[in-house]
Parts: sequence; C-alpha cells; structure tokens
Amino acid sequence: MTPDEFRANGHELIDLIAEYLEHVGDRRVAPDIQPGDVRAMLPEHPPTQPEPWADVMADIERVVLPGITHWQHPNWFAYFPANTTYPSILGELLSAGLGIQGMSWVTSPACTEIETLMLDWMLELLDLPSRFRSTSEHGGGVIQGSASEAVLVAILAARWRGTHGAVNADGDTTRLTAYCTSQAHSSVEKGLRIAGVGTDRIRIIDHDQAFAMRPSALAEAIAADRRSGYVPFFVCTTHGTTSSLAFDPTPEIAQICRANGSWLHVDGAMSGIAALVPEYRWVNDGLDLADSYATNTHKWMGVNFDCTLFWTADRAALLGALSILPEYLRSAAAESGVAIDYRDWQVPLGRRFRALKLWFTIRLDGVDSIRRRIQRDVALTRELASWVALDDRFEIVAPHPLNLLCLRLVGDDAATDGLIDRINASGTAHVTRTVLDGRSVLRVSIGARTTELEHVTDLWQAISAT
Ligand SMILES: *Cc1c(COP(=O)(O)O)cnc(C)c1O
Repeated sequence: MTPDEFRANGHELIDLIAEYLEHVGDRRVAPDIQPGDVRAMLPEHPPTQPEPWADVMADIERVVLPGITHWQHPNWFAYFPANTTYPSILGELLSAGLGIQGMSWVTSPACTEIETLMLDWMLELLDLPSRFRSTSEHGGGVIQGSASEAVLVAILAARWRGTHGAVNADGDTTRLTAYCTSQAHSSVEKGLRIAGVGTDRIRIIDHDQAFAMRPSALAEAIAADRRSGYVPFFVCTTHGTTSSLAFDPTPEIAQICRANGSWLHVDGAMSGIAALVPEYRWVNDGLDLADSYATNTHKWMGVNFDCTLFWTADRAALLGALSILPEYLRSAAAESGVAIDYRDWQVPLGRRFRALKLWFTIRLDGVDSIRRRIQRDVALTRELASWVALDDRFEIVAPHPLNLLCLRLVGDDAATDGLIDRINASGTAHVTRTVLDGRSVLRVSIGARTTELEHVTDLWQAISAT
C-alpha cells in the first residue's frame, strides 16, 4: 500500500466507521449464527497474491459486520458497557500510525510523560487520594491493558512484600493466603494461580444480603490463618461487583488489612469511573488506605479497550517484583532516577501509546459530556427499577446504586431463564444471566453511549410482554 492509497483507503474506512456507529441501532444486537459459520464464509487458504482494497472492504460488509455482536448498540444491556467514542478512535489510530514502543522513557519520552500526566489528571478528576499521585513520595499510576492485568500486578507486588522482597525460589510462597468474596471477579483467582499462590490458598469470605463482604468474617479468617502459620498477604475488595454491582465496605476492611500487613487491592473496574460525578464520589470510600486501585476507562467512560488505570501507593513493591534490567535496556535517564520506565510496572516489555486515546477523549469530548452520560445512565436505571417495582410478577434482587439492575420473575428459575433466552433470541435487545444466592437473575446493564429513555422503555415492554 502506497502513502496515497493509504490516504484514500483511510478516508473510506473512517466513513465506514462513522456510518456503522451512526446506524448500529438498525441491526440485530447479536448475530444469529452458529459456531463455524464465519470461517465457512472465508477461503480455507491464505492468498498468494495481494488483493484489492475493495475486496477486503466487501468482506467487512459481507462477513464481519453480520458476524459480530454490536456492543455499541443502543439496546446493549448485556455484560457491561464497552463504549468507544470518536476522539478515542482517532487516538487509537494515531497510536498505530506512530508505531512506537513505550517500554522505557528513552524509547519514546512523550509516551511515558503524557501517560504519567493522564494518570495525574484522572486522579484529580476522580478525586482520588494524593498518595497515588506520580509526584507523591511512594505512589504512582500506569495504564494497564485490563483490570485483570492490574489485579495480577497488584498480587505480584503483594507477594514481593509478603515474602520480604524475595524474587528467588527460596522466597517461601507456600504459606501465602488471599481473601475475597465469591462475588469478586474471576481475574482475582486467575491472577493468584499465575502468581503461583493457587486456588486452594484463596479464602472465600462471606457476604451479606447486599452481596458485600462481611468485615467480621474477614477478620476471623485472617486470624485463623495466622494461628495456623499462614501469611495473609493479599485482600481484594470490589467497588461494583460484576454480578450485582455490590460494594465491599473497604474502610473497615482496610483497617483489618493494616493490622495484619495484608496488601489491599480495590477493583473498581466498572464503577470507579462514576467518581467523575461529584455526587457519586462515595465509590472511592476507603481508597485512602488501599495499596492499589484500578478502574477501566474502557467500560463506562468511552475510551475504547484497552485502557485500565492502575494506581499504587507502594511503587517500590511493584518495582521490586517486576524490575529486571538487562544491559540493552540501560539508559542514563533511567539511572538518574527521574525518568519512569513503565516496563517495570507491567508484565509485558512492549507497550503501546495508550495515553493518546484518553488524552483525546478528555480534551475533545470533555469531561462534562461524560458526566452527563453517567448521570443519564443512573437516572435510566432508577426509572426502570421504578417500573419493575410496580409489577408484582417481578422482584428486584440486589441494591442498584448506579447503572445495573438485577431482577427475576417470582417463581422458579426456569421462567427467568426462559425470559432471558427469548429476549436475546429476538435480536432486539441483549441482556445477561447471572446467579445470585443460587437463583437465576436477569441483569440489565445500562451504559451504552447511545442508550436513551426510549431504548429502556422498549426493553421493559419486551420484558413485561415476553
Ligand atoms: C469488567 C471487570 C473486570 C475485568 O475487566 P478487564 O479489563 O476486562 O480485565 C474485573 N473486575 C470487575 C469488577 C469488572 O467489572
């Protein structure tokens, strides 16, 4: 592809994206296809000669668009919002166009410095504790690819601290124990397995009727483990659980972690972004005592995947766990101690210029428009809850402080399961099933950029008529 062909094709592709996003609401939300259908539409063997751009574009229309689930659809009520916005798409494109690697300050100074500034901007916008700020004595922030990677690096830093800085096989990790509720995200268990701690060292702590951790149960579990010679090295609380958007009481839990020397990671992947709105700043409760915190701009905020914000108040533990300095990565800037080398803050070496899409989003759409969307989504969730509450065929099964509503049909699970299947099969809206207290639940997650009152009204009509 020549530079001139790139210009022409690029314009065509931008037009396709704008057209797609403008009219995505006219499509079925999820495709009506079976496993293998997509592959069967494509040649089994790779081309031996370059093909025309037009043929590739034709396959986008013929194969790709009918073969994807439309997360940007206004009737998207499944899983969680994964919004993309125009400024973010342009930032992503620029990142690909510049094609840099940002593993160290010296390999692309602007990549590192704009990222550090974005973490400090976001800290200010979310009103997070200043001990996470990059200019603080012990803290700092970094963009991770996902909340799952964020919890993994938190576990690795906690393991380093819990084993007194061991990076060799003589560091005893066999006595380490970790704590969360059954409502914590699966990435906590995955991270503990990757870190060599293992599933059977995870203590599942009781939760209350609102699906939030019981601090007294945590304190008892930690005390019992310590009596048996275990080292309670890691606790994960969630601010907005995946199943029901429950909030663990981090302020009380943090005191228990302090008293026992446990690392406290707070997972605010979905809900943490709500703190952009001053009246929802309660989502930050307890962060002033946490060792690390993560929230995703790639869910509710409108920065396209992948852009998780991760902060720690103990960067020495993170660097202790992850910093390795081979000869070919040495630089005077790093040795002077003033430059940040983000490769030491994450698992991979290479890193993309992800700060661009966040910078573009904040500057071009502006934070006020994001705040208005968050307020709109919370208001729509309350509205839907008020309709459900008036219909005695249904019950609401969890508190709904923000943008997720969990409901079910009164009666046996088969009715709720059937309802979910019929709504999703219709293609007009998409919802997710979960299980709370052993019973089927229909989860309505409100937060797609294009969702308005009419879409929620249509959803409620579909649910109540189905
Ligand atoms: C979505 C979510 C995750 C996982 O996020 P990724 O960025 O996809 O890894 C983890 N925890 C919570 C609470 C979530 O909502």
